[in-house]
Amino acid sequence: MRSKLFILIVFIGLGTQAQQIFKRDLGLMGCKFEITVVATSQKEADEYIDLAVGEIQRIEELISSWKPTSQTSAINKNAGIKPVKVDDELFQLIKRSIDISAITDGAFDISFAAIDKIWVFNGQEAQKPNPVDISNSVEAIGFKNIHLDEKNSTVFLTKKGMKIGFGAIGKGYAADKAKNILINKGVAGGIINASGDMNTWGVQPNGSAWKIAITNPLDTSKNYGLFELVDNAVVTSGNYEKYLLIDGKRYAHIIDPRTGMPTKGILSVTVFAPKAELADALATSVFVMGVDVGLNLINQLPQVEAIIVKDDGGIATSANINTKSK
Ligand code: ADP
Ligand code: MG
Repeated sequence: MRSKLFILIVFIGLGTQAQQIFKRDLGLMGCKFEITVVATSQKEADEYIDLAVGEIQRIEELISSWKPTSQTSAINKNAGIKPVKVDDELFQLIKRSIDISAITDGAFDISFAAIDKIWVFNGQEAQKPNPVDISNSVEAIGFKNIHLDEKNSTVFLTKKGMKIGFGAIGKGYAADKAKNILINKGVAGGIINASGDMNTWGVQPNGSAWKIAITNPLDTSKNYGLFELVDNAVVTSGNYEKYLLIDGKRYAHIIDPRTGMPTKGILSVTVFAPKAELADALATSVFVMGVDVGLNLINQLPQVEAIIVKDDGGIATSANINTKSK
């Protein structure tokens, strides 16, 4: 009789080191970023974070409207002159921006930038600009005058004085791309925080979900909400960082493209969505659309929710937000 051979393997682990959380604060795209990753050592974490930073800087080079060498600046310099050939990545970002203009009835409009020299949002009392300057700039605003030629990958701003800018969508886009690059690298979990545009994936090393706090716009040293976020994005747009005062009233650094006037009445808008890019653009849009019209739109979009803090301190939410006060 042949004896059977039994093999007993006792797994004692493959020597994997414990996962930990590492964070780095950075200045990128003209604002504060905080990148959090799960890694086994500082060296590994640094490698991951460097990769994310490289990606964000690459995007900034492409989309920034204040870097004279960017493709966006080339589009702006050629407004009313000629179409400009751009990378597919920028072309598609512009295309998605125009789609958001369509669903928001023009509340969101990257060509708002024609007016960005007129208003200065430094938190101080401002003179209302000359109405003629406002109406001239409004003339140059209009997403329908951004002509895209998909075959040749060109973008043409058809009117002189037109200008595009990604202030309301670029950080969200960069946060999505940085998250993707780290997921592809195999990073088990993390948070990209682009000045309040938060994007998470995976879980903390102890297995629990990432916890995200929302700044209280009435007292920015405090938070008004804490929730768990799993593979999702949440963006808060607030008028507490960049704003201006006219006759003592506070206006947000978000312009209604149809009037050329900054918006008022809302202190902050928080939008939850699968992608930070969409959440970012919609948070800005709701400022312009106002509470009722804005929430009506949010309620029609799948997997998108919003919380609005009004300037009287009242809170309005979309249909599927459940709040619990402590
Ligand atoms: P934050 O930068 O505080 O996160 P937002 O995401 O709401 O805020 O972006 C505000 C920026 O968006 C403004 O500084 C400006 O660059 C740009 N912007 C202003 N109004 C509009 C608009 N109606 N549509 C698109 N972009 C806008
Ligand atoms: Mg935004």
